[in-house]
Amino acid sequence: MRTLLNPESGEILSEAALSRRTLADLKGAFADEAARAALPQETEVYRVLTHENGEREGQEGGLFFGTSFVNPGKVGGEYFMTKGHYHAKRNTAEYYFCISGRGALILMDEAGHTWMEEMERGTLHYIPRNVAHRLANTGDEVLAVGCCWSTECGHDYASIAEKGFTCRLMEVEGKPRLI
Ligand code: MN
Repeated sequence: MRTLLNPESGEILSEAALSRRTLADLKGAFADEAARAALPQETEVYRVLTHENGEREGQEGGLFFGTSFVNPGKVGGEYFMTKGHYHAKRNTAEYYFCISGRGALILMDEAGHTWMEEMERGTLHYIPRNVAHRLANTGDEVLAVGCCWSTECGHDYASIAEKGFTCRLMEVEGKPRLI
């Protein structure tokens, strides 16, 4: 199965399904909920193009590929970010690689230890099993990240929606810092 991917932008040029997340969809995700609520709710925070390869989530042995595009922006000093998730099947890993822009991959293990890896064009990131992950855009341009994960992973957004990560990525004196 052959598909075209724009290597500069990360756009998947055919057989791609789009999902979008706006500020309205990210209610409760940022530390400063009042600041989030005060911004235009239809503002797009990120979108994900997933390659439609005929696989279904939960099937054994397959792979998915997608590109996440996180827009630049901040909510009360906290960078625009994805919701973040664990995999429903915890013992499944994932690859991310940065296609363009600047950002951070924020990671948290099940003991609540949070850390980050800086992302820029060409960085490759291996997300180990049992580790929650989220993207944040720390730059002025769109952060585009290619992702490859197992059809068996599934997504557990609820754990993060309830408890969040133990650290947040904030802009402090013009620089990203995990707090
Ligand atoms: Mn994942």
